Formats: sequence, C-alpha cells, structure tokens
Amino acid sequence: MQTQKVEGMKIPEKFVYFFAAGESDGNSTMKNVLGGKGANLAEMTSLGLPVPPGFTISTEMCSVFYQNDQKLVPVLKEEVLKALARVEAKLGKKFGDNKNPLLVSVRSGSRASMPGMMDTILNLGLNDETVKGLAEQSGNERFAWDSYRRFIQMYSDVVMGMNSSLLEVTLEDYKDSKKMHNDTDLKAEDWKALVQKFKKQVLESTGQVFPADPKEQLWGAISAVFRSWNTPRAVTYRELHGYPESWGTAVNIQSMVFGNLGDDSATGVAFTRNPSTGEKAFYGEFLVNAQGEDVVAGIRTPNPVTKVDAAASGAKSLEELMPESYQQLVDVYKKLEKHYRDMQDIEFTIERGTLWMLQTRNGKRTAQAGLRIACEMVDEKLISEEEALLRIDAKSLDQLLHPTLDPKAPKTTLAKGLPASPGGATGQIVFSSEDAVAWVEKGRKVILVRVETSPEDIEGMINSQGILTSRGGMTSHAAVVARGMGKCCVAGCQEVEVDYAKKEMRVKGYVLKEGDKITLDGGTGEVYLGEVKTIEPKLDQYFERVMKWADKLRTLKVRTNADTPHDATVARGFGAEGIGLCRTEHMFFGPDRIDVVREMIMADQREERIRALDRLLPMQRSDFKGLFEAMDGYPVTIRLLDPPLHEFLPHSEEEMKELAGRLNWPVDRVRLKVRALHEFNPMLGHRGCRLAITYPEIYQMQAKAIAEAACDVISSGKKLVPEIMIPLVATDVELKKLRAQVEDEVRRVQNARGVQFAYLVGTMIELPRAALTADSIAEYADFFSFGTNDLTQTTLGLSRDDAGRFLGTYVSEGIFEADPFQTLDQKGVGILVKKAVELGRKTRPDIKLGICGEHGGDPASIEFFHAAGLQYVSCSPFRVPIARLAAAQAALKHRQVEH
Ligand code: PEP
Ligand code: MG
Repeated sequence: MQTQKVEGMKIPEKFVYFFAAGESDGNSTMKNVLGGKGANLAEMTSLGLPVPPGFTISTEMCSVFYQNDQKLVPVLKEEVLKALARVEAKLGKKFGDNKNPLLVSVRSGSRASMPGMMDTILNLGLNDETVKGLAEQSGNERFAWDSYRRFIQMYSDVVMGMNSSLLEVTLEDYKDSKKMHNDTDLKAEDWKALVQKFKKQVLESTGQVFPADPKEQLWGAISAVFRSWNTPRAVTYRELHGYPESWGTAVNIQSMVFGNLGDDSATGVAFTRNPSTGEKAFYGEFLVNAQGEDVVAGIRTPNPVTKVDAAASGAKSLEELMPESYQQLVDVYKKLEKHYRDMQDIEFTIERGTLWMLQTRNGKRTAQAGLRIACEMVDEKLISEEEALLRIDAKSLDQLLHPTLDPKAPKTTLAKGLPASPGGATGQIVFSSEDAVAWVEKGRKVILVRVETSPEDIEGMINSQGILTSRGGMTSHAAVVARGMGKCCVAGCQEVEVDYAKKEMRVKGYVLKEGDKITLDGGTGEVYLGEVKTIEPKLDQYFERVMKWADKLRTLKVRTNADTPHDATVARGFGAEGIGLCRTEHMFFGPDRIDVVREMIMADQREERIRALDRLLPMQRSDFKGLFEAMDGYPVTIRLLDPPLHEFLPHSEEEMKELAGRLNWPVDRVRLKVRALHEFNPMLGHRGCRLAITYPEIYQMQAKAIAEAACDVISSGKKLVPEIMIPLVATDVELKKLRAQVEDEVRRVQNARGVQFAYLVGTMIELPRAALTADSIAEYADFFSFGTNDLTQTTLGLSRDDAGRFLGTYVSEGIFEADPFQTLDQKGVGILVKKAVELGRKTRPDIKLGICGEHGGDPASIEFFHAAGLQYVSCSPFRVPIARLAAAQAALKHRQVEH
C-alpha cells in the first residue's frame, strides 16, 4: 500500500472508493480496506445490479481518526467532497440544494459483519430549506417532514449523544394532545411542528444547535461512525468474536432511496436459503412503506416475502403485493448466489416500484444450516467438497452439540413465536440485561425476556440460556445475534405481553413473574411453562458427511482429554481416536476418594502414605481398565498425578473439622498440616513430577495400577499400548529418574503376572526450560505432549487462576489479539513449541508429538499445530468434531500455501 505522511500520520494514497454503475473502484476481495458492506456494494454495482451510487471511506482512516484525537483530517474532507460531487453528477441532485437535494445514508461496515453494533444515520442533508425541495421532488410533503424528523432523532442520538427517549416522549405527548394513536395519523403539519419542537429540545438538552449545514452534518456523522467502533457494546461484540481493535470500521456514504414513499414502496431483508435450517428456499421479510431500520430494529413485525411463508400466518407476501418487484428480487438473489457461490443475506428497498439493492453479504447461519448448505451446494456442483469444508466455521459445530427438548416430555404450551435460533433452553425469567448478569453471578440459569433486544442487551444475552422477545422477526437483532452466538432464541412472540415495570410477562391468562421458569424451543418457536427435560443432540446426515470429508483430508489425529470411561465413550462417539490426556487427579474428586487422597497428601510418615496409596491402588486399577476398554485399542495416555495442592486441601475451619472427624484425627493436626502445606503460588509449587521426586511411592502406585490394568485387558485378548506421561518436567534428570522408577514398577508387574506388553513413557512439555532443552529430555521420552495451558502460564508469567481479572482489558486494549489461554500465542509460546519439536526430533527422529492443552480444541491453534508438524491434538469430548474439521481445514490451507 502506498502511503503519504500528513502531520506525522501515515495516510494511504487512496482512501475513498467510489461506486456507481460502470465505475466502481473496489470489489468483493477488498473487505479489509472497504469493510464487508463497502466491498460488496462495489461488487454488486459491477455486476450491473441496481445499487444507489456512493462511496466508501477505507478502514485505515478509522485508525487515522483515532491518531488525530478523534478528528477528521483535512485531506479526508477534501476527498469526500470530491466523491460527493461525482455522486451529484450521477444523479443530477445536489447535496444541500434547496430545490433538488441529494440525501445520503452514512453507515459503518467492518471486515466482518457486526449486526446492529455500530451506528447508522439516514436522510442526512435535510434542513429547514432542503426539506422543502424533498417535498417538491417527491410530491409528498408528509414524507419529507417525516424523513426530517427521523433524521433529527437519529442524528441527535448517534452524533450528539442525546438520550433518544426524550424525543420519543415529545412525540408521544404530541400524539396524546391531538388524540392520535399511531404515527400514521400524523400529517405533514404535525411533523413540521414536531421538527421545531425537536430542534428546541436538542438545544436544551445538549446545549448545541442542531446543525443545519449539510456538510457539518456529514462530518459529524462520519466521526460518529468511527467512534462507534469503540462503544462498549461494539467492544463486547468484538471480544466475543475475536475481532481485533486494529481492524477499524469503514464508512459507507450512499445516496438515499426511500422505502417509505407510500404503499408502492417497501424495504426488506432476505436470505437466499433458510438461515435456520439451510433448506434451499428463498426466505425474507419486508415492510410496506418503511425505512430499512424499521425491519432490522424489529419495531414492526414484518411480513414474509414469499407466498408460501405467508400462507401460515395469513399475512400478505411481497410476492402477492408487488409481483413485479418480487420477480426482479428473485432474479437478483439467484444471480448473487451464483456469483458469490454462497448463501447471501441481502437488504433491499423498493422505491415506487423500483428495486434497489443496499447490501449483500455471506449470510450468517446456524451450524445445522451451514452443513446442509455446504452439502447441497456440493451436490449442485456450485462448490467443491474442499471449498465446502473451508467454508464451515469449525467453532460453530458447537451449536450442533447443544441439547434439544425431549419430544416425549410433558409440556404446557404458553405461546408460539418465531424459531429464531435452535436448541432447547430452560431457565428462570429475567427482564433486563443487568438482571440476567446479576442472577447468573448468583449461580442461576436464566432466560432473558424482552420486548425486543438492542445491542445494549448483549451482556445479558451472553449470560442467558435463551432469549425470548415479543416483537421483531427472524432478522431482528435478537434473532441475528442469538444465531451468531449459537444460543436458543424465540423471537416475535406476540402473544406475550411484557411488563418491565412490574417485572412480569402475561400470556394466555398466566402471569409469570421474575424468577418463574419457562422453556424455549428455538427450533420450533414454542414457549413452554416450567422446566422441560432436554436430550443430548443427535447428529444428522449432513454432519456425518462433512466429518467424512474432513477425516479424508486431515493428517492430524484427534484424541480426547477424558478421565472417565463415560467421557471416553462420548468422545469415541464424536470420533476421538484415543485419549491424549487422562488427568489422574480428576479421578479423585469423588466424595468416596477425596479423603483418601487427602490422607495421602497430609501423611506424616511414608508408611502412612503407603497405607493410603494401597487403598487407592484398586480404585486406580479399575479406573484404568475402564478407560482401556472404552478406547478399545486406541492409544490411551495416562498422566501421572499432577495435583495443584490447593485444589485438594480443606480451606475453611468447618471443612477442616469435618475432615478431622472423618479421618479420626485431632483438628489441630489437620490445621497444622494444612498450614504447613500452604503455598503462595500453588501453580508453581509442589505439583507434577516434583511430588514424585519427593514421594516416589505415588507414581509407583500409579505405574503399578496401569500395568495391572493393562495385563488384565491384554489377557482378555485386547490390543493395548499404554502411554505413561510424566508432567511438569523441567530437566532431563527428573525424567531419567522417574522413568526408571516407572519401568521398574511395570517390570515387576509383568514378571509377577507373566504378561509382557509394550508401553511408552513420555513427558509433557509445559515449562519453557523443557522446551529449550527438549533434545536432552527426548533421551528419556518416547513422546512429548505439549501442555500448552502451563506452557502459556509459565511463558507469559500469567497465572491461570488469576489472569482472568485483567486479561479482558488486555484483549480490549489490543495488547493481546486473543486470550492466550484460549488461542495459542503463536509468536511466544508457539516458538517454544516449534523449538521443542525440532530439538526432540534431533535426538529421537521418531518421537511421537501431540498437544493436550485447551488449545487442542481451538481452530486457529490447531492450524498452528498442524504446521508445526505435530501428529495429534487432544481436546475435550465435545470439541472433537470441531478439531476434526479444523484439522482438515488446516491441511487444506497448508496445501494451498505449499502449491
Ligand atoms: C496443560 O498444562 O496444558 C495441561 C494439559 O495440563 P493441566 O491443564 O492439567 O495442567
Ligand atoms: Mg499442565
């Protein structure tokens, strides 16, 4: 990119991109610069589709804006005015002209869509003079003054920071005084009067005169869009989706078209296929005589676009009301889907019978829909299997693994709304985002009930099990955002009357108060009274097909982290090819075992510890047998004990007393022992192999239990090569010593039982020193498994237990691109992983390499592990399908890079 330096700031040579029939500067590949909306407006224009002309200010100018103390640099204003002149020339209108004024919309648009998160201003360019020109041009005075008052409302809210409800109240008071009920009752004269009232109120409330100069309005609106990139709600959304602050937003300035010019005008949103189910059927909603924001904001419940969808509700469809425009829209959507070769989410406006396209983008979809669309597009020969795989958001598979309602469970139906986002959810109702957060903090599960949601509700939505709204359609904020989160949502449930003041909802004679339980079925739109039993998800044919494609392509194996035969069996069902980590300390959390472990930890004498270990031995033996049997020949890695001591010791006086009673010890002994074992930094304390260096009998017991279990399983005719893993190794000397102990123990069992079997002894690489000296460590390790949780903790010096308090700030401030405990820090921790791989292979070319930290289920990290040359990743059972798909995507991307 060419840049120029202006007042010490790097400014790109080109930062305003024009689009109009036959002369678009941009295209759909330029999302990083133009944002998704801008890039696709340019592309649609080039395709010859009807797009109102306009231009896009690039995302780079967003960071220039912030560098320049949130002010627009003069060159930006110059270029904007030049582009505006080109739009004027195209349309024969003039910005700020009293006779034939050009009005524009000013909208945000980042690389990835963030529905409703940032700001938009419509009808910009209106003032007391231009409004007359608009009235004349449109031949509709009422429309002109209505547009003007909408503009004042939007602008004063978004740009001037005024509380939008103040003007709403003025409008309501005005209607009351005139005994009017609906906005449609107001005539041109009424809106004229209200415009003057609004302006007066803006002055009183903000201390600023509402700007009459269209240019001033424009500078204000552009600045506000840039600022909206950093509003708390946008920041929350960005963090949730991992979008870095550095992306910035573009600003799209486009000539206005009006869907509110009468009953021959309309505005709507549609999907080229059903975004909930993936069915190949045009699916959309529209409002007659309305502006785009009315549909998206869910203020009026829209009608279905197609006759088929409208039939059920008795509403009139666009297909019936405006058949010509509908046919045009059908042609456009088909062209768009074919061109983009993906399901599109489109926005359109019909102005007096003429169709205009305002947006197209790859449509957000449920995971279920994503799989079906991918499979059917492959069948339609629109895309290849490989493209299909690359398109599916691996993380979204999470949604398929959510529970649904048991069809056989008894239910009392309360109401039916729109099936906005699938899954079943039960919880106690709350009526505000703040209450949702507060209740969840108290350990409750909640359903957020709102008339409609707005971006301010995002925290509440994240925290709730499901969302119910009484207003709004399938494309309303609640529906779109919940779908993106994979959260159950029933929207537009009109039978439900929500009363925020009383914190209650009324439906079919029931009055439900805050805290009462309801259940939602996001797949059907049904709302039920009370709690309904849920069942585990069943995966459909599309899922199976996609997984088969993935398995064909991936080179990484996918194992699971499992500590019980049940988890191991669930993971096998999801396609796990072995256990990469069995955390043996987790086997001791049960009430019948924890005291034995505590006794072992707190023992004063070796004999006492051995007595406790002897009691643990049969338990461990049967645990391991269960795991080996569940994995039926697949590899099983058992990690020897690694208990951070603080997780096992009693903390409160009460707990200590109880434990002393159960162990038949004096309380003082427990107290003293707990005090003696107290660590300031348990994560860096006496855990992992360090415990076995001081108390060898612990690992000896575990090695014996593994060997005995292996003998039992092998004697029954099954195949098994157990992998014994030693944690938290820092030096080769530790491993050498502990490996020898393990081998002695296994040999003893093999000799005693007369059964010989092969097994591996390896280690975790979870300390920087281990990574840097992996060549000497590999002398004693048949395999390495990267413990990236501890490796992240120790490389970044971030406590796994405490970093949560400030990591959020690090991510929102852009210091970290993502939480390093979720997505591997490739530039730091990743270098250690690569180094250890290289050194380990130098000593032992056939060393087995895997990873079992949480990063093993994170798609971006999986791509890194693929590239680093590991042989497998291991993750929690429910993330196994995600890892299988991500591994295939990594293989494909890597192959593409190599070509
Ligand atoms: C790790 O540190 O990455 C690991 C898998 O071990 P744990 O989380 O049990 O410390
Ligand atoms: Mg660890």
